[in-house]
Amino acid sequence: MSLAPPLLEARGVSVSFPIGAGFMRRDRVLNAVGGVDLALYKGEVLGLVGESGCGKSTLARVMLGLMQPTAGEVYAGGHPLAQLGAKAIARKIQPVFQDPYSSLNPSQTIGNIIKLPLKVHDIGERAHRDRMVAEMMELVGLAPRLRDAYPNQLSGGQRQRVAIARALIMRPSVVVCDEPTSALDVSVQSQILNLLLRLQNELGLTYLLISHNMAVVEHIATRVAVMYLGRIVEEAETTRLFSRPQHPYTKALMQSVLTPEPGLGIPDTLLGTAFPDPTDRPSGCPFHPRCGEAKDVCRRIMPPTAAIEGDHVACHLYSGSGYSSPDPDN
Ligand code: SF4
Repeated sequence: MSLAPPLLEARGVSVSFPIGAGFMRRDRVLNAVGGVDLALYKGEVLGLVGESGCGKSTLARVMLGLMQPTAGEVYAGGHPLAQLGAKAIARKIQPVFQDPYSSLNPSQTIGNIIKLPLKVHDIGERAHRDRMVAEMMELVGLAPRLRDAYPNQLSGGQRQRVAIARALIMRPSVVVCDEPTSALDVSVQSQILNLLLRLQNELGLTYLLISHNMAVVEHIATRVAVMYLGRIVEEAETTRLFSRPQHPYTKALMQSVLTPEPGLGIPDTLLGTAFPDPTDRPSGCPFHPRCGEAKDVCRRIMPPTAAIEGDHVACHLYSGSGYSSPDPDN
């Protein structure tokens, strides 16, 4: 682990939303993210994995400065993100979202879409900007003739290449990739993943990669954080996590990765009951209704996060809470 300060760090970040429950009924609160600590170090690809609804995209929006946390703070290079303006954040951190079509302006040419950040940030003269766009298009594998095309004339893979080019034209230090291949045909998913990997190496980028797909995360991430109902339940170096998962939820995800179809995501068959309602969070360990190893303590007490050989696990199995000598009735 690097001793340099993290490029991007969430400290105690929580996000909750009031949800209207209808006439004469009290509003409920959706706790999307609950007290997350997460640090992203230079040169790494940190995979953030979990099922749909676990809060990972909400956390990504907070890390991008697009949403304020209800509690806690995000720091970029040691400075609170909240104190940086939108332009300063955009120079450091850029997103690549799931659906490249909805994130591209349909009325603009590909060249103008990629160039727009340079204009907004007043970087270079026209000729210099045009050169930068041409270089970036070549870097992401877009033919020069596509410069005057419109998004609806491109394939899904080409559109995602445009979104990547637009994100990288400002040479950010951190790219937050939120399900960057989920909306693409299976046949082009690996092309885009390999492009992201090559660009990371060539440009010295640092990625926060959000995905529900364990195969994608294993392919590209150097470290993985596993999220369940708004909390990080396990965090470890990728090889270790995939060879020796500790948390019961991570183990279930590992078994679920046997799906032959990467785009299908995580089947629920090995996880017992369905993903719980985030507005009605289970007591104690939130995973206990689906956990085959749950005991009485799990239903009553939230497990603390334990450090194991530099990795982190939030489970009573590893917290020294007396789980190893449980009540025989439980
Ligand atoms: Fe399962 Fe208990 Fe660990 Fe939660 S704390 S994952 S219920 S063993």
